[in-house]
Amino acid sequence: MSTVDVSVSMSVSIEVDELTEPQLSVRQLHVAYGGIQAVKNLNLDLYAGELVSLIGANGAGKTTTLKAICGLLAPQSGEVRFNGHPIAGQGPWALVEQGLVMVPEGRGIFARMSIDENLRMGCYLRKDKDIESDIDTVYRRFPRLKERHRQLAGTLSGGEQQLLAMGRALLAKPRLLLLDEPTMGLAPIMVDQIFEVVREVSSMGVTVLLVEQNAHRALEMADRAYVLDSGELVLSGPAKELLDNPQVQAAYLGA
Ligand code: ATP
Repeated sequence: MSTVDVSVSMSVSIEVDELTEPQLSVRQLHVAYGGIQAVKNLNLDLYAGELVSLIGANGAGKTTTLKAICGLLAPQSGEVRFNGHPIAGQGPWALVEQGLVMVPEGRGIFARMSIDENLRMGCYLRKDKDIESDIDTVYRRFPRLKERHRQLAGTLSGGEQQLLAMGRALLAKPRLLLLDEPTMGLAPIMVDQIFEVVREVSSMGVTVLLVEQNAHRALEMADRAYVLDSGELVLSGPAKELLDNPQVQAAYLGA
């Protein structure tokens, strides 16, 4: 076990496991909604510090996969291990406490609470002394949130809400961050800003699993990627190789 100091960006110290075993390991995962089989026999691994993209068409099972990993959905069968331990049956809060944090599609912010209150929700499970300084760091990184800190979160623009959701997630001190369509519906300038934040979070040593509609950008920024089709894994590999893969280009990159 080695420690990576990421205090340059946030006073968060993240312990990164050696690359010998995956930080997250998903084996033979099956998830269904009633009779609808949304994820079939999925296997994936994420090593500490990696940025991995999960791409696929609408309805491919990407969101379902993230929800099953973070404890929001109970799988039919299969195993999810985090830091070497099975996490089946543990709810999202227990997993947040262990450093597995999700930013859901649609951001999941509390619309009737202020920006400040939303950020403090990210610290809900923390008992350390760095909370105030970490909130200040988030405000310094996202001055738009600082300017509006008393404003109700529901009145923010979509892009600002996404920044708030990311800021709140960072305050939970994630070791693994699951991001579900963080740029969905945003203006191009905000899309660029969100990708920059994702890159920054990754460079802090946080492992990132990114579900992204913009497959081109998702592959450009990732180390590796998985491609889902109708709930099944159809391709995986280094992201740059998938960018050059004619099958991926035809199906997901509009070539
Ligand atoms: P998108 O990019 O459109 O968000 P996705 O790849 O994230 O798609 P999922 O949302 O995981 O796909 O959906 C996978 C399948 O499960 C789809 O066929 C979808 O219709 C179905 N599904 C998702 N949520 C539910 C639900 N709550 N009840 C029933 N079926 C669902």
